[in-house]
Amino acid sequence: MDRAGDRPMKITDHIKNAKGETHFSFEIIPPQKGQSIQKLYDNIDPLMEFKPPFIDVTTSREEHVYIKKEGGLLEQKITRMRPGTVGICASLMHKYNVDTVPHVLCGGFTKEETEYVLVDCQYLGIENVMALRGDAMKHESYFIPQKEGNKYASELVSQISDLNKGKYLHEIIETTYNSNFCIGVAGYPEKHLESPSMASDLRKLKEKVDAGADYVVTQMFFDNQKYFNFVEAARKIGITVPIIPGIKPIAVKRHLNILPQVFRLNLPDVLVSAIEKCKDNKEVRQAGIEWTIEQSKELKAAGVPVIHYYSMGKSDNIKAIASQVF
Ligand code: FAD
Repeated sequence: MDRAGDRPMKITDHIKNAKGETHFSFEIIPPQKGQSIQKLYDNIDPLMEFKPPFIDVTTSREEHVYIKKEGGLLEQKITRMRPGTVGICASLMHKYNVDTVPHVLCGGFTKEETEYVLVDCQYLGIENVMALRGDAMKHESYFIPQKEGNKYASELVSQISDLNKGKYLHEIIETTYNSNFCIGVAGYPEKHLESPSMASDLRKLKEKVDAGADYVVTQMFFDNQKYFNFVEAARKIGITVPIIPGIKPIAVKRHLNILPQVFRLNLPDVLVSAIEKCKDNKEVRQAGIEWTIEQSKELKAAGVPVIHYYSMGKSDNIKAIASQVF
């Protein structure tokens, strides 16, 4: 935050102001409904010494829950188990004097509801948003857009860009004060799982940038060469905005199977062997930390603007990494 002017700063301005230095940033997940926000603060506190200019807060899709009825019958309901993204963003801004980036999804939201979320952000002084399509719900085999909702992230970016121009969904709205959102979008160094080819996925990324996206944050990757190739290919087709690498330390042995399955990404064989040799998850966590330190050092040496860590709710490993890199 630019406290001199007492107003938030855009991610792109944070990058410009860093003058070639690499920033540290991270993403957090809202707590489950019914949990205190204190646990979140306890995980964020140790990371603030690395001076993140911004923290991302994810938004989760709604999911089916089953409620036990009399006679043992189960009633199915749809609910969002981790609500509160914008509220958490506001509370972190005030508690830590840091910019926050709420993730805004196409999935599960009508355009009207999205407009309300954006208006809330405006009133709270949140000037950065990540525009994402979202995944399919757990019981769906492919993504189904909400009726009256945005189908692709590029459409959501257009909606946000329109709002920046004072164009609301209904033309009856007269504006005297436009929003001024800096818009982030997702990029995939190993291609999005649904995309038929890398070239096609890059063209879709270009559509998001052409629609108004100001920067890209990548899906996690474990081989930096994948990121370097991705940036080179993106530049070749005219994507000039900053491309922030997003990375995550492996923390449990199960990740060897889950991450490739969920994100369709590849793990380098040296990393796989190192994890396979570990006797327990304590050793896995340490091996994950060591790998991510090396990855981070190489990315920093290459002059990336920010290294963005997927913290998945626990910060001890991210702190161990950051203390060796920043
Ligand atoms: P899109 O850019 O819309 O792309 C989705 C797919 O459609 C791609 O295969 C693309 O190539 C294709 N496509 C795009 N446009 C078109 C078109 N016009 N015609 C045909 N095909 C097209 N998920 C959450 O639920 N909550 C989060 O908070 C969240 N945060 C994330 C943060 C980051 C940094 C990243 C990388 C991902 C995040 N995700 C999150 C996951 C994300 O929602 C999924 O990866 C989702 O499947 C795709 O989202 P997208 O915004 O990249 O979609």
